[in-house]
Amino acid sequence: MNDNRTELEKLGEFGLIKHLTQYFKIHHPSTIKGVGDDAAILEVSQGDQVVVTTDMLVEGVHFDLMYVPLKHLGYKSIVVNLSDVFAMNATPKQVTVSIAVSNRFSLEAIEELYAGIKKACEWYEVDLVGGDTTSSTSGLIISVTAIGFAKPEKIATRSGARVNDLVVVTGDLGGAYMGLQILEREKEVFRSAPGAQPNLTGYDYVLERQLKPEARKDIVQLLAQMDVKPTSMIDISDGLSSELMHLADQSFVGCDIYEEKIPIAPETIAAAKEFNLDYTTAALNGGEEYELLFTIKQSDFEKIQGNPNFSVIGHITDESSGCRMITKAGEAIALKAQGWNALKPGEMY
Ligand code: ADP
Ligand code: MG
Repeated sequence: MNDNRTELEKLGEFGLIKHLTQYFKIHHPSTIKGVGDDAAILEVSQGDQVVVTTDMLVEGVHFDLMYVPLKHLGYKSIVVNLSDVFAMNATPKQVTVSIAVSNRFSLEAIEELYAGIKKACEWYEVDLVGGDTTSSTSGLIISVTAIGFAKPEKIATRSGARVNDLVVVTGDLGGAYMGLQILEREKEVFRSAPGAQPNLTGYDYVLERQLKPEARKDIVQLLAQMDVKPTSMIDISDGLSSELMHLADQSFVGCDIYEEKIPIAPETIAAAKEFNLDYTTAALNGGEEYELLFTIKQSDFEKIQGNPNFSVIGHITDESSGCRMITKAGEAIALKAQGWNALKPGEMY
């Protein structure tokens, strides 16, 4: 960010909207009309279903501007929404972005936020087609709605898991959580000794997992190429444990997962050791991973076997057995949804 400060009121609401949205490109012919009218116009082709999802990010609840750069925040605000569309096995094509800003923010700050939003729109090829801009008395609030499309037979909900299906997770887990621990630690150091330089070197992987997560667009494409249709799917925003319980609840099944099969990066293990944390706990309960958790029929196992993007971590059981993890010692323990809960009083993350 440069040091200039232009007050938002200098542009006015309409000037600001125009200024922020003018350089966004349109990627999809289904976007008939984007920003600028009373409403956007989208064309829906015959046989497609539309999926719609919204997420709101509130300063002080979901992000802390002390260590999250605005550009990353803009990028992440799009990613978290697209992740929900991918979790339906659908393709996102349009987004709307609504912001509430206080006069604490300058035009240059909001430009940074939009630079991140634009970067994500380009990378994921989605069109910004509208939003709302309003003022807030203190913090920053960002609300994004994503619109996606899929053939009805492709859509994967949370309710389709069946007994004996395999439980599969993409990527690796626990990294975003460890990244957050490092940022929180350095924030405390800074608080007690302002001017101290944060010690962030050597933590690139986990910091990137926290600050610049990516949604798994590639997985939806890969599953289509491999001709694998997940029987159920969810994205990991609140932690593996809690997402498994959502799938199980909505599918009326139970599940057994194996501790030794949970994919965890060496960088995550190293960071967890440094904090004296159990890395399995970080992987089970750490939120904001944006990996996909899904179930497949046993007959599809061969299609995904050996692909480094996927880890089979367990299988679906009868509802009466509940959700369990078989530890490395061979003990079965009941999973708890200790996921990240934005509504828990007194907790930032
Ligand atoms: P109205 O008063 O009719 O709601 P607005 O002045 O709020 O219209 O919005 C004008 C246009 O700009 C609309 O197309 C709206 O979707 C779009 N828009 C408003 N705010 C944003 C924003 N923060 N980002 C993207 N588009 C926006
Ligand atoms: Mg409006």
